[in-house]
Amino acid sequence: MDYDVVVVGGGHAGCEAALAAARLGRSVALVTLFRDQLGRLSCNPAVGGLAKGTLVREIDALGGAMARVADATTIQFRRLNTRKGLAVQASRAQVDIDLYPKRMAEEIARAGVVVVEGEAADLEVRAGRISALLLGDGTRVGTSALVLTTGTFLGGVLHCGRDQQVGGRVGEGAAHTLSLSLTRLGLRLGRLKTGTTPRLDGRTVAWDRLHVQPDALPGGHFAFTPPAARLARRDCYIAFTNEGTHAAIRASLGESPMYSGAITGRGPRYCPSIEDKVTRFPEKDRHQLFLEPEGLNTHRIYVNGTSTSLPAHAQDAMIRSIEGLESAVIEQYGYAVEYDFVDPTQLSPTLEWPALPGLFFAGQVNGTSGYEEAAAQGLVAGVNAAGVPLVFGRDEACIGVMIDDLTQRGVGGEPYRMFPSRCEHRLVLREDNADRRLMPRARALGLLGDEAWARFEEKAAAIAELSAIAPASLRRPEVFAADLFPEANPEVAEQVEIDVKYAGYVVREGQRQDQTRRLAGVSLAGIDFAGIDALSIEARERLTRASPATLADAARVPGVTPAAIQTLTMVLIRLT
Ligand SMILES: Cc1cc2nc3c(=O)[nH]c(=O)nc-3n(C[C@H](O)[C@H](O)[C@H](O)COP(=O)(O)OP(=O)(O)OC[C@H]3O[C@@H](n4cnc5c(N)ncnc54)[C@H](O)[C@@H]3O)c2cc1C
Repeated sequence: MDYDVVVVGGGHAGCEAALAAARLGRSVALVTLFRDQLGRLSCNPAVGGLAKGTLVREIDALGGAMARVADATTIQFRRLNTRKGLAVQASRAQVDIDLYPKRMAEEIARAGVVVVEGEAADLEVRAGRISALLLGDGTRVGTSALVLTTGTFLGGVLHCGRDQQVGGRVGEGAAHTLSLSLTRLGLRLGRLKTGTTPRLDGRTVAWDRLHVQPDALPGGHFAFTPPAARLARRDCYIAFTNEGTHAAIRASLGESPMYSGAITGRGPRYCPSIEDKVTRFPEKDRHQLFLEPEGLNTHRIYVNGTSTSLPAHAQDAMIRSIEGLESAVIEQYGYAVEYDFVDPTQLSPTLEWPALPGLFFAGQVNGTSGYEEAAAQGLVAGVNAAGVPLVFGRDEACIGVMIDDLTQRGVGGEPYRMFPSRCEHRLVLREDNADRRLMPRARALGLLGDEAWARFEEKAAAIAELSAIAPASLRRPEVFAADLFPEANPEVAEQVEIDVKYAGYVVREGQRQDQTRRLAGVSLAGIDFAGIDALSIEARERLTRASPATLADAARVPGVTPAAIQTLTMVLIRLT
């Protein structure tokens, strides 16, 4: 068996990597532990969110599948942050947990990707580059381009209370042999952890005692080409923890592996476990939870906000203390997973490991968290593995920001997730214009099909036409393009309006970056980072710990965002 590109892993990174290489006409094999788990949503079946929605639209603009598959399986769609500026608004879809993987498997089959069920165990190296992947059963799969997207499976250990089990996620084993092969080759691995929430049987929830959160946008979708068909929409619900819940959690903290020291890997601070929330914010008398249906044909409910590794009896007590959940039955207990990741600072911006040409990494194995982050890296790694160079600048795409952060700064000690504050060009890197930013390049590389390109060309021409006649008054907040041009396609009118209204802000954003560049070498000696209220707590802590000598050094501290650097720039300007 020989293929142009071999991808290991059928998660979000692996699927996009395989599809991208196949779109470029390469022969592709996708090796995965379980054939029926392609595109599985390990955690909450939700796609998008702050900055993540932009990644999904960028993937779509590059011909990827995630947006299309999410649109076909959406059961609730929302726009987040609608009271704020467009740069920080985002789309988020709740998708059907069973149908999403089915649709993704159809995409893989349609693209002609050969799916091989098996365990990737070792790599074959000849003449200083990758020559084959070796499976656990001894099968040799020859290739000169291998993309590893093994998620949380390298050295994976699942924790639920004091119980420990080897595995990458519930129901699936871990990949220990591959971890050893990678360390033997000289790759540096680290250890991280993430967690998931209990799932409830929805038939045991008193829905009438919870706050309903109905679908907000029946026509909402991610892909630039709207879906041909949509699923029925479902309501989500809001519940709250209370003092009783917090007492139940505190009573069992000694049995939580995070507090007993059984887990050594660091988890994401931005997505804390319920144990963390209760101990870190003792002054809060309640925490908001979202009860989200997992699909149309299942009663399972995801309790967003209760990620935990407490033992089963404590999870029962915690859940049943919540109003509306007094009789709720847990179908699957929450758990934490600890796993090895590859320190991404060893990789080049193409996601290749330069020490071993032909070996690429993408997704959670690079220390990120989230389906969208994984899928976006997968696409980039797949294109580069196919021999087509693809690297994005920080001013071109959120994908470029993420990969630059990963390869230049690393993950900063916790799973890396995309946020608007990580993007210094966030007024430009929006969801709505991902097609205009990326489709021309995608088309030139051969990644974008004829239909999507024809739609784009038509839209671009209409935008140019309308822009030419748009009056200057459109700059004013109370003037809307939809009123001025009621006949125009709403998407086109929206783009023209955003271009006009944002032009001044974009110029100012550029000027602020020029200021930061000019002050890069200025000393930060004597600056009390902890006393700068405009910085986030995280930025204050990281800067105090790292004590950078100059602004340029501060920008290189992992986890210190461009937003924090702009705040420091303002402080320096005031001081000089
Ligand atoms: C318990 C848990 C909780 C999570 N919580 C969150 C959360 O709260 N928020 C969030 O945004 N994200 C969360 N995630 C992360 C999200 O699920 C992942 O970031 C995303 O799925 C990563 O995609 P991936 O393609 O990199 O890896 P995965 O989706 O994990 O896919 C890995 C693939 O590799 C295959 N594989 C692994 N090893 C081998 C091998 N040796 N041979 C062959 N195949 C192999 C597996 O079978 C699988 O198909 C969570 C994940 C888990 C497991």
